[in-house]
Amino acid sequence: MSKSLFARLEPRLSSVSKPIQYVGGELNSTVKDWDCAPEGETVRWALMYPDAYEVGLPNQGVQILYEVLNERDWVVAERTYAVWPDMEQVMREGDADGPIPQFTVDAHRPVRDFDLFGLSFSTELGYTNMLNALDLAGIPLHAVDRGEDDPVVLAGGHAAFNPEPIADFLDAAVLGDGEEVVLAISEVVREWKGEGRPGGRDELLRRLAVSGGVYVPKFYDVGYAEDGSIEAVVPNRPGIPFRVRKHTLMDLDAWPYPAKPLVPLAETVHERFSVEIFRGCTRGCRFCQAGMITRPVRERSIETIGDMVENGIRKSGFEEVGLLSLSSADHTEIGDVAKGLADRYDGSNVSLSLPSTRVDAFNITLANEFSRNGRRSGLTFAPEGGSERMRKVINKMVTEEDLIRTVATAYSHGWRQVKLYFMCGLPTETDEDVLAIADLAKKVIAKGREVSGRNDIRCTVSIGGFVPKPHTPFQWAAQLDHETTDERLKKLRDTVREDKRYGRAIGFRYHDGKPGIVEGLLSRGDRRVGAIVEQVWRDGGRFDGWSEHFSYDRWIESAEKALAPTGVDLDWFTTREREYDEVLPWDHLDSGLDKDWLWADWEDAIDPDSDVEVEDCRWTPCYDCGVCPEMDTEIQIGPTGQKLLPLSVV
Ligand code: SF4
Repeated sequence: MSKSLFARLEPRLSSVSKPIQYVGGELNSTVKDWDCAPEGETVRWALMYPDAYEVGLPNQGVQILYEVLNERDWVVAERTYAVWPDMEQVMREGDADGPIPQFTVDAHRPVRDFDLFGLSFSTELGYTNMLNALDLAGIPLHAVDRGEDDPVVLAGGHAAFNPEPIADFLDAAVLGDGEEVVLAISEVVREWKGEGRPGGRDELLRRLAVSGGVYVPKFYDVGYAEDGSIEAVVPNRPGIPFRVRKHTLMDLDAWPYPAKPLVPLAETVHERFSVEIFRGCTRGCRFCQAGMITRPVRERSIETIGDMVENGIRKSGFEEVGLLSLSSADHTEIGDVAKGLADRYDGSNVSLSLPSTRVDAFNITLANEFSRNGRRSGLTFAPEGGSERMRKVINKMVTEEDLIRTVATAYSHGWRQVKLYFMCGLPTETDEDVLAIADLAKKVIAKGREVSGRNDIRCTVSIGGFVPKPHTPFQWAAQLDHETTDERLKKLRDTVREDKRYGRAIGFRYHDGKPGIVEGLLSRGDRRVGAIVEQVWRDGGRFDGWSEHFSYDRWIESAEKALAPTGVDLDWFTTREREYDEVLPWDHLDSGLDKDWLWADWEDAIDPDSDVEVEDCRWTPCYDCGVCPEMDTEIQIGPTGQKLLPLSVV
């Protein structure tokens, strides 16, 4: 039996900021009996998005798994989030019964009482929050130190495609779509518990590992060569597969989740109901890890989208619906989806939003439909590279002409604000490529003034530092050092500001390059990086994704200390270009992408004479990236020809 900690927490809540984030009881949340299945066969999951409630609660991945798991009458799933430092202090100080451990927000049960502690990482900057939660929970940080009563600590999410930097802290990791695999894992745990836990924790992990779909780091040995590179990663037990495969959900219509969206009690980063209209992206942008690891494209049908929107609004009361995916305008029936939903909710208080990233006039038509009930706040496009040359390197084939034509359409339709997103530090980039962003922004403003006849046109340029990611053609690239990134961005900012005619109409947003270097270290790191993460956490590192909590110096000092005995350093992990033969830390984790295809694409990217353009395999023949045959999957796209009938709004 697990006892609620709420009676111990409640008297202390008035002394912490935003106490409501710790109380649970949100609309559509679930609290189940601790023993909901007979004979000790209940399987219990504590699910964590390792960031504060305001970021974690809206996370789709966690909401989906929470619901999918709780639908099984033999599974209990509850949620936990990272606690803010003031709450951490209160919990560590505790009361007469000792420290208050990490708890779930649903029934305030100690996380350590659960069978599984599942964490979803969309960014590597949540790693120190994981260590803090483990420590607060009373679960040993290192997997080797855990006992029979400790939960199995399991990671998922995009960062789990290279979990090596946190391998020492994990019992297991899962790659890819979570819906089916969490149930498969639950079945294995249920069976093992039902049999009386034969062989203990080790046997449970072995059973998970031999399935081929769960990575158990302790069953793999990593050997290093004298130069510090990895020699090999090999299973250390019979029956453990050499490579662990990602999971791909092949029928999104059969999994229409979330069906009961959680409605937050406290303010959160998104307050809307989101429906994922397709998964995967095959546009082939070379920097984009999300696009590469989620292949192939699988669309949700227009009917299911319509049903999910209708049902989600009814169950949650949200007034905004977001249609999510990596490039929503690419859904084969997006025009009908947009018009159908706009007609259905015309005149109601339901507004629709679409993350617009594709640069073309069709996007403006969509945006016009979507803004029928809402405000025309602004449109965002992501050319990503400032110069045409740069966009060719990253395989984002948007011409300057396309962009200007698109924004002209937007401004002439009454939009006043356009946001352009770019990256700095891309392979082969020079100062000129980045300064081209200023020219582009000026042309955008000039065109906007011309077509609208107004002077209050604005264009915001937003720039992020490029971080090379595993399982992409740029996984071999040297990351640009933060000093050069900052210098380039400063030159760009000065160029924009000095422009008397257009400078004031151009907004400029960028982050300094330092957090990107830490993200780079954690993205392409190997098991030796775990010691850095631990050192940073021990030195007080928490909430590294928040600029007010992030300390670059702490990471640098920890890296120097932790890597001293290894013969490699921070630059080795970040600003060094890799060779073809190098064993990459994630080579044994199978995203389906053919390594030779990735390499050829990398060579095409950096070859100034190459004119190879990788087109989208949805509309052109398969170009053999490897995913479909390797994963036994296929592209699933429409059009289905169905229309969304207007329903009367309840
Ligand atoms: S294998 Fe072919 S069809 Fe499948 S995602 Fe790759 S390129 Fe597209």
